[in-house]
Amino acid sequence: YPCEVIRNFSIIAHIDHGKSTLADRLLELTRTINKRVKGVNAQVLDKLKVERERGITVKAQTASMFHDKGDTRYLLNLIDTPGHVDFSWEVARSLAACQGALLLVDASQGVQAQSISVYHVAKSKGLTIIPVLNKIDLPAAQPDMVAKQMHATFGIEPADVIKISAKTGKGVEQVLQAIIDRIPPPVGEPLDPLKAFLFDSSYDRYRGVISLMNIQSGVLRKGDKIASCFTRKKYEVTELGIMHPEEVSTDCLRPGQVGFVACSMKESAEAHIGDTFYRVGHPVDPMPGFKPAKAMVYAGVYPVDSNDFLKLEESIKRLSLTDRSVEVTRETSSALGQGCRLGFLGTLHMDVFRQRLEDEYNADVIITAPTVPYKVLHRNGKDSIVSNPTDFPEPADFASGGRAKGVEEPIVKATIIVPEKYFSAMMELVFENRGTGLEWHALDADGDTSGDGRVLMTATLPLTEIVTDFFDKLKSRSSGFASFDYEDAGYQASDMRKMTFLLNGKPVDALALIVHADNAANIGRRWVDKLFKVIPRQLFEIPIQAAIGGKVLARRTLSAMRADVTAGLYGGHYERKMKHLNNQKESKRKMKRVGQVDLPQEAFFDLLSSK
Ligand code: GDP
Ligand code: MG
Repeated sequence: YPCEVIRNFSIIAHIDHGKSTLADRLLELTRTINKRVKGVNAQVLDKLKVERERGITVKAQTASMFHDKGDTRYLLNLIDTPGHVDFSWEVARSLAACQGALLLVDASQGVQAQSISVYHVAKSKGLTIIPVLNKIDLPAAQPDMVAKQMHATFGIEPADVIKISAKTGKGVEQVLQAIIDRIPPPVGEPLDPLKAFLFDSSYDRYRGVISLMNIQSGVLRKGDKIASCFTRKKYEVTELGIMHPEEVSTDCLRPGQVGFVACSMKESAEAHIGDTFYRVGHPVDPMPGFKPAKAMVYAGVYPVDSNDFLKLEESIKRLSLTDRSVEVTRETSSALGQGCRLGFLGTLHMDVFRQRLEDEYNADVIITAPTVPYKVLHRNGKDSIVSNPTDFPEPADFASGGRAKGVEEPIVKATIIVPEKYFSAMMELVFENRGTGLEWHALDADGDTSGDGRVLMTATLPLTEIVTDFFDKLKSRSSGFASFDYEDAGYQASDMRKMTFLLNGKPVDALALIVHADNAANIGRRWVDKLFKVIPRQLFEIPIQAAIGGKVLARRTLSAMRADVTAGLYGGHYERKMKHLNNQKESKRKMKRVGQVDLPQEAFFDLLSSK
């Protein structure tokens, strides 16, 4: 395949605007998959169970297809990108292998927060953008109005917009045509030195690391000896080919092509996303490198049964091979025993990882409340990143003569798009969460007075405020109409404190939190109430306290229960008694004994989802 007939493209869109559905239609239209066998909404590119259940694409998947036009056979390489704010890093890296992108916008929803962020990523990479309006079959679709929005927001000419229904297939042919006509072919000379760009990797139990590469120049063949610009390690290519959409082996990969490469790479840590490979003996300049994925949210993960630690650790390691953006280290908690500290791109990412641990590895885990990485400034002029409440300085450390002199917290620049009638609710939400620098302007230009005209808001928010329930509140207070996106905006000085919870007078390290001084009393009270509700009564009285340093901010006392739990049950039916006892047994299994107090797994889950 010479470069001229290759097109490398992505589909970029706000979540649910129809990327996976359009990808399926393109694969069908090019007969890459068989319509009748796969069914209408098979969404072949969303491979993981959790992706199907939640309808989100977690890991980018790549597929090649062939399309005949006249005498020419085109090779179209589609790179499906993930569709959630947590995964914007994956979007950026997939786009590095493309020359063009289909910007898909739902004609009934209009331009949303992530339409804007993905557009800017694609634009900054110099990609040709093909605007596509989807879901024109819906009665609520307003294609002309949304085309106007796209003009106002992106400067896109309405005449360039292709209107389609990915569901019915209407207009999808036109999309294929535009891919060929509008997106420039990749450039690259087969006779130049080999330059292969690694943009994704996965792990196969039998073959080791499988990389997805984009050939920038030269030809890669089976048996070739290649080396990494980054590590200078050498490998021999054992198998290569294209994704069609499953792996199909070929003899070689030529300039502009995208495909899988298996080589003698054993450890997934050796596959650096953004690395460039060259033929041994013919070094090249690397492609401009990528920033490594940056964890934004950390949490401790522990087995419910401490004896399962090694099994859990093994499962986490295996799973993290398929998801390279998860950071893994060991940690020990006096309350929960041996566990792992994991770093995630966001809370959805964390949730997806936990669900995959349960689905794919049958693991029963306790996850501690998420913590963002804080910067602690030390008196000796150095600073350190703390992503575990246990390591956070005590109030005494900040006193004169103490080791620490201040703390900075990570902040983000947030974008919210919302119908005007929810504007004040959103403003409140921003201020409740310590937002600053709020700015807004109308998105739909023509003086709409119905309250449906939309407003684009931007503000600076502390990351810690948006990692818990911000997204849920945003959705519920806007009846689901608000869309949200955020990007890293560095650090800012902040008065953060370490809050500990004491059960029966003993601090439980796994429950510790880092909170802002202004919210401390509220958070302390709320968590004490939560704990009061979820901790089962025991044979003795248990004081539950929230404290900062030595100062108790909230306290409740769980009274002792009677010795025979079944004695209080009405009627005393045998079955009922048995059921109750079995329930108790069942919950015992998922109970953590902390000091003398039994903490159910639910206690941690409840706390995770509260604030
Ligand atoms: P993604 O999150 O961008 O991958 O979106 P999906 O492809 O998963 O689509 C989200 C939802 O919109 C699914 O329920 C699709 O069936 C539906 N959908 C996608 N395209 C269309 C369309 O053209 N018309 C209608 N009515 N529904 C669509
Ligand atoms: Mg999808």
